[in-house]
Parts: sequence; structure tokens; C-alpha cells
Amino acid sequence: MGEQVKPRLEGSRCAVCGTVGYPASANCARCAAPTAEPLTLSTKGMVWAHTVQRFAPKSPPYVVPADGFTPYAVGYVELPEGIRIEAVLDCDDFADLDRAPVRLVAVTPVPRFATLSRLQSEVR
Ligand SMILES: [Zn+2]
Repeated sequence: MGEQVKPRLEGSRCAVCGTVGYPASANCARCAAPTAEPLTLSTKGMVWAHTVQRFAPKSPPYVVPADGFTPYAVGYVELPEGIRIEAVLDCDDFADLDRAPVRLVAVTPVPRFATLSRLQSEVR
């Protein structure tokens, strides 16, 4: 096994009002001023809302996997910093996603989180 680089979400936080943004920006979305500073966001959060993509999105930009399209979940993950990140959600069962604790597993091409039960089943 090679050395794995842990994925990180690089956001920003306003030095004046504390508003957290993602992706990182020098400008605060609330103050509309260049008052934001870089902030590495937590890699653990909780599913705030989700839905299941049951048909293949328009391609391009969607890239159909080599073994064909399979439904997948997308949603928002709420982080301790008080921001919700739109992400692909890996899980064993879509029914388990509601309020599920998740961990960041990738940041490219889009943020991707996995449920803790999914991560445990991958280790075995
Ligand atoms: Zn601000």
C-alpha cells in the first residue's frame, strides 16, 4: 500500500464576522469585503439533506463509469464550522443517510463523503 494523502477541504473564514465559506475565497460572502482568511475545514460532518440520483446526468459533463451508471446519493454535509458542503455521498444503503455521520474521502472532482459504516465495510 502506498502512502495516502488525506483529503482536505480548503475554505475560508471572515476575520470580521466569522462567516465560513467554501471553496476558499479572499472575500467574505456576508461582508462583501476582502476580509476572509484561509481555513482548513473539518473532515467529519453529518448529512443535512440528501437525494438519490437515479438516472445518468447529462454527459458531458458527467462521465459514465466504465461499468455503467448506478444510482448514487448527493446532498449537503453539515460541518462543525457551521457550513454545509454539497457532496456525493457513499453509503451501503440510501435509507441510512438521514442525519448520518460521514467522513470526507475525496475532494476532486467534487467533494465526496462516506458514511462511517461504509468506511468500516471497506476496511474488512
Ligand atoms: Zn464577513
